[in-house]
Amino acid sequence: MTFKDLNLIPPILNALKDVDYTTPTSIQASAIPLVLNKEDVIGSAQTGTGKTAAFAIPILQHLANQPQNHKGKRKVQVLVVTPTRELAIQIAESFTNYGKYTHLRNTVIFGGVSQGAQTNALRNGVDILVATPGRLLDLMNQGFITLDHIKYFVLDEADRMLDMGFIHDIKKIIAKLPRERQSLFFSATMPKSIVKLSNEILRNPKKVAV
Ligand code: AMP
Repeated sequence: MTFKDLNLIPPILNALKDVDYTTPTSIQASAIPLVLNKEDVIGSAQTGTGKTAAFAIPILQHLANQPQNHKGKRKVQVLVVTPTRELAIQIAESFTNYGKYTHLRNTVIFGGVSQGAQTNALRNGVDILVATPGRLLDLMNQGFITLDHIKYFVLDEADRMLDMGFIHDIKKIIAKLPRERQSLFFSATMPKSIVKLSNEILRNPKKVAV
């Protein structure tokens, strides 16, 4: 199988050519068609399986296919929440790489650094926001971010998120998401606590495993 078989649009296929991806990984082959088909997805997959592209590529395609709003500021339509700064930076780089031939813009926010550069990027307008939970809530509480226009929500490394004590933050974030949205949920392991959390986020999810 090749990426062409997944019905991807030329701007994305060209970007994948630039990064030398020819064959989808197993999670990409199973998740990309589901996400393009607007399904909620629960994926058990570790880092290294290609799960970032499995959600970033179809989300970019959904956004690239939307009519462009030429008036007014960009609204954040995609929220990816991930537990660490390193993961957040990698995910944002993936959106930048795979989306390089689209008009879409992303930014990344995380704690432990001053917020000035992050709030400036937000003020300029982005379509896609990659965030760690604490800084996200902090900037939401200060009025720099609203989740009112989110259409796609990704919770990445959910088990690690719970291990790191982020459960209350996650619940506060999901309480602010619009009900009408597509949600994707990834976790390396699926203990009961994770299944319970996934049930609070997903609607009729399709399962993918690696
Ligand atoms: P991830 O599991 O998302 O952290 O990705 C692991 C690594 O695999 C990253 O360095 C990606 O750039 C790379 N990768 C993801 N998908 C593919 C693919 N289809 N072909 C080649 N490399 C890939």
